[in-house]
Amino acid sequence: MSKYNKTDRQPVEAAYIHVPFCRQKCGYCDFISLAGAEHLMTDWHRALKNEIEAAWRQAEKESYSAKLKTIYFGGGTPSLLSPKQVAEIIDLLNNRFGLAEDCEITLETNPATLGAGDYLLMRQSGVNRLSLGMQAAQDRLLKKLGRIHTVQDSITAIKQAEAAGFERISTDMIIGLPDQTVQDVSETLDLILSLPVEHVSYYSLILEEGTPFYRCYIDHPELLPDEDAEREMYHLIIDRLNQAGFVNYEISNAARPGGESRHNLVYWQAKQYYGFGPAAHSYIGNVRRGNTEDVKNYIQAWSASDNGYTVSHIDEVLDNDDMQREMMMLGLRLLEGVSRAGFAERYGSDPLDVFTNEISVLQKQGLIQVDDDLIHLTDRGLDFANIVFREFV
Ligand code: SF4
Repeated sequence: MSKYNKTDRQPVEAAYIHVPFCRQKCGYCDFISLAGAEHLMTDWHRALKNEIEAAWRQAEKESYSAKLKTIYFGGGTPSLLSPKQVAEIIDLLNNRFGLAEDCEITLETNPATLGAGDYLLMRQSGVNRLSLGMQAAQDRLLKKLGRIHTVQDSITAIKQAEAAGFERISTDMIIGLPDQTVQDVSETLDLILSLPVEHVSYYSLILEEGTPFYRCYIDHPELLPDEDAEREMYHLIIDRLNQAGFVNYEISNAARPGGESRHNLVYWQAKQYYGFGPAAHSYIGNVRRGNTEDVKNYIQAWSASDNGYTVSHIDEVLDNDDMQREMMMLGLRLLEGVSRAGFAERYGSDPLDVFTNEISVLQKQGLIQVDDDLIHLTDRGLDFANIVFREFV
């Protein structure tokens, strides 16, 4: 019997597109992106369109094709694409899968890459949400990170995007940086809150093996803010954003009501999605599949044939237990938590029965709480979320 379970296939309503190009590599980044390889973009674009066509044919054949509710251009630096290239991809997705009327289409944008006129063209291409990588409001920190933009670039970008009609703008900030103080974080928040932003993502620096930051700091933790300072930064962000009317709906994300990232909710709610482009992952049925991380290999495979799946690999075939654990792990990232009724609708059992021991241990530690239908992190659980997630691995 096949280990792939077609009965687990829900309609797939989300698509992620990986754009593997950057102007230069930031010192902390281990995402799959090439610096100085913009000459490959046209070939990447052609290959990507072939991959989308093939995925659509497969979805039609196996009856999980549905109108898309979210599209997310991530990277890399998707704002290096021309508005015409972006429009062609959106048009293709629309012509094949169809787009829901209020489809959320996000473009990750580096503040130094688009000019005033480009925002209008991007808006006209169908993009309706920008995720802007501001990261910090101090040029000395941006320089240290190896970012190609300045603080003024972020301010200009957000104002130009607003003038071009973007009502949905998100921004990223990083905490735990070398030389970063709590005062720096406070000033970054001052700037963000003075701008027309509806969503903020706040991440802690992670030293990823193989990066210049790893080599510099792995043996010198004294050069980074200590755990207490980082926790102070994290709570400062949540408190300040809450005071300003944002709701921290996920452990690293806050939004004004209605401004949540619908695309990222697909991941946290353990729903299914397509992943197009090098290094992109898809989750369809009970199968998680990853594309090759080698950009040239990807281009060659998808240009030479209309079936480049030879350069993708199956990462994981999830059984029922895996999927239930994943729903708990991802769902507990959301401050609202996991709905017992939603879980039961998907898996036919109450999570309190499936994970009796795990939930009881975490309740005793004061890390999670059960309120009628919802199982969610406590305030203490927010600080020790990794302990909670580990319980469901
Ligand atoms: S711009 Fe983003 S993807 Fe590109 S190197 Fe910097 S952090 Fe990585």
